[in-house]
Amino acid sequence: MRAQPIPREEDTVVQSRTPRQGGAADELRRILQRIDGRGYPAYREIRGAYAFPGYRLEVDYVQPDPFAPPSQVIVTVPRNVAGFPPELLRTPVRATALEDFITRRFYALSSRARAGSRGTGGSGLVSIDRPPQEVLRRTSVTMGAEGVEARFVVGLPARGRTVLGRQAEELFFREIPAVVDGALRYANLDAAAVRRQVETVEDAECIRDALEGRGLVAFVADGAILPRVSGVDDRPLAEGTVVPFCSPPGLRAEFETPNRGRVTGMGIPAGVVLVVGGGYHGKSTLLAAVEKGIYNHIPGDGRELVVTDTGAVKIRAEDGRGIENVDISPFISNLPFGKDTSSFSTQDASGSTSQAANILEALETGARVLLIDEDTSATNFMIRDGRMQRLVAKKKEPITPFIDKVGQLGRDLGVSTLLVMGGSGDYFDVADTVIAMEEYLPRDVTAEAKQIARDRAAAREREGGDRFGPVKARRPLPRSVDPSRGKRAASVSAKGPATILFGAHAIDLSCVGGIADISQTRAIGDALVYLRERYLDGKRTLAEALALLKRDLDEKGMDILSPYRRGDYALPRMFEVAAALNRLRTLRCV
Ligand code: ADP
Ligand code: MG
Repeated sequence: MRAQPIPREEDTVVQSRTPRQGGAADELRRILQRIDGRGYPAYREIRGAYAFPGYRLEVDYVQPDPFAPPSQVIVTVPRNVAGFPPELLRTPVRATALEDFITRRFYALSSRARAGSRGTGGSGLVSIDRPPQEVLRRTSVTMGAEGVEARFVVGLPARGRTVLGRQAEELFFREIPAVVDGALRYANLDAAAVRRQVETVEDAECIRDALEGRGLVAFVADGAILPRVSGVDDRPLAEGTVVPFCSPPGLRAEFETPNRGRVTGMGIPAGVVLVVGGGYHGKSTLLAAVEKGIYNHIPGDGRELVVTDTGAVKIRAEDGRGIENVDISPFISNLPFGKDTSSFSTQDASGSTSQAANILEALETGARVLLIDEDTSATNFMIRDGRMQRLVAKKKEPITPFIDKVGQLGRDLGVSTLLVMGGSGDYFDVADTVIAMEEYLPRDVTAEAKQIARDRAAAREREGGDRFGPVKARRPLPRSVDPSRGKRAASVSAKGPATILFGAHAIDLSCVGGIADISQTRAIGDALVYLRERYLDGKRTLAEALALLKRDLDEKGMDILSPYRRGDYALPRMFEVAAALNRLRTLRCV
């Protein structure tokens, strides 16, 4: 039942038939001089590899015109020339931190190099993928057996559609060498800054590895800066009075790190953890920081040592989304007109059904921690108090609220929940730990909350049975994952971090947490095609197919996702790959 490979739109881009292999740099210069003043397609002649002093430069892809996406160039600096000390590459985590550092440096130098435009469209551009605050594995810069490889883009200079050969010479023989030299050779980097980044990332990773053994799902270091500049600017808030994080004594945890010794902070325990507090006291900010703690951060971010179990998934209401064959019966049953909720499908989910599906889908793919904020939850999904229970009989209310299920999640499935809920004290009954945020500082109020729960029993009755209920494993059908557009070739692209254009369909990821970078979104889109072609066969479960995808990515790297050597991928989690598939409205599962 395996689907045929689908031809890709990029395959039709015309390239020179035989890219040249291993020419001297002078040869590139001669070609540029020769094609000066000719039509833009003459640039195709430069495709190929050239030996520059100290590195190899490959023109991998040549754009068809100055307004098209820029050309791709790959530079490899041999190990001995690049000169990175082996200890910076001792572990994969260190290597990723170093590669990220080099990418940032390359980006900074190349944007500085491009003082003025040198012609039409993207003429004169030199650029590389730009990392966010998170340090992710990416394809822009990699340390391989041969040396350091950087993949970046270049806008080949033109006036109108006429080749500007002299400007191109400047670009290849003056500007690119300066950027390559400045970014890919250890001697030209700020050694202390490199070490700081590698060590920071290593320390965070080390704490993350230790969380589970300590019975924690997250750790927020003392001194961490959680608030961000704005909803669209992820850098640390610096204006006004920023309150650095300080752990409450009852929840204080200590970790021994390899590089900065002992670190203290708040350990968020496994189980049901409730975050309460007045409006505007920093509850959502704490949860958002924990949400991003699945990734490591650059030094200076403020969240360097905010570290979360990589199995944490943000759950929210998402009305309007499509749902395909999800068993939402643990939360929802008795829908009007007897609609079956053990195999629930809709093209237009309600707030509560979407939140239920988001939970079941996360559990299906192995989530260990659910992160939920009242701000983005459906009220009727979260709570149903005693008075409402009395007025609306259970027979007429399809929803078993989360409050009756959250304890079972832990007991039956070993799944923890971190929940921001300032609006309902009914949750005191089911919480293992209660943290109050007061003027941006946490206080452990577990004992107080438990006392209140004893003094004032909630007038509500438990609903929804004694067990959590089934988590169905679905088997996606490959034909329902089709990136082609009618008879035309497959086309998949990221249009912003939250949208994948998948053939004729748009996948909306705006309610999906866990994506830090558009380069992850790109990789997710292509991973769906990879899954369709390799692993979805109507027999494998989604979780099995994702495990195979993850194995391939770990063993072979992200280059498996494309026939081209892309420099603009960043590694996503399998949760987000699943989230994209689940939001593809053509998806069908058995
Ligand atoms: P809540 O969810 O409790 O209503 P938020 O987390 O949304 O509150 O925070 C309210 C505002 O306070 C936000 O603008 C946020 O940037 C700011 N803020 C959060 N934490 C801090 C802090 N530690 N120091 C300064 N400002 C903060
Ligand atoms: Mg809030």
